[in-house]
Amino acid sequence: MATLNIPESLETLKKAQDLDREIYTARQELAFFPEKIHQLTLDLEAEKSRMLDLEKQLKDIQVRQRAKEGELAEKEGLIRKYDAQLAQVKTNKEYASLQKEIDSLKADCSMVEDSILAILEEGDQLQRAVREERNRLAEVEKEFEARKREFDARGEVLKAHLDELTGKRSGVISQVPEEARRLYEKILDKKEGLALVPLVGEACGACRIDIRPQLLNELKLKEALVVCEHCSRILYTD
Ligand SMILES: [Zn+2]
Repeated sequence: MATLNIPESLETLKKAQDLDREIYTARQELAFFPEKIHQLTLDLEAEKSRMLDLEKQLKDIQVRQRAKEGELAEKEGLIRKYDAQLAQVKTNKEYASLQKEIDSLKADCSMVEDSILAILEEGDQLQRAVREERNRLAEVEKEFEARKREFDARGEVLKAHLDELTGKRSGVISQVPEEARRLYEKILDKKEGLALVPLVGEACGACRIDIRPQLLNELKLKEALVVCEHCSRILYTD
């Protein structure tokens, strides 16, 4: 690296590092969007499935109601039929037996009516729940659309910003000598977009571990690029 103009290379790399940091952050933000949208979609799906479940319960209850109403109509029909037969029976025994049958049917009807009332009440509650869930679902859908529009808009801004940053970056990085650029980019890839860090006191600005005195001297001499022995990032000192 003796052929490198170290102070000049470092100055240019600092500019590249500023841009690369911004590029890294923007890319990170963009990378999280699919996950965020997926989460929103899951919330929406859960709400839709609650809605479907309630609607199904409501349908079931309507089926039960119709069945009970049919049962009631059938028993009432029998009562009318037996009532008509009462006028035609010949013996007291027959009359008493028919009357007993009618009384029993009336008792049954009263029980069926009670269960219809209970079903109607249950149905009312369910209908309220369905209305509430429908409102909630509409809210969640609205929220979903709004958030998605937000993400899309932010995504567009980020992409445009990234284009601008990468354009600037290629201008800057092309001024760095090949050897230094290769080292810098290798570290950049492996170290979350942070390849060049200042010395802070006598420690590395990234991992905060003290730098050996010999390396501190080399840093001050600015005759070669010096990397932190712990986190492998390129160090600089002003
Ligand atoms: Zn370090």
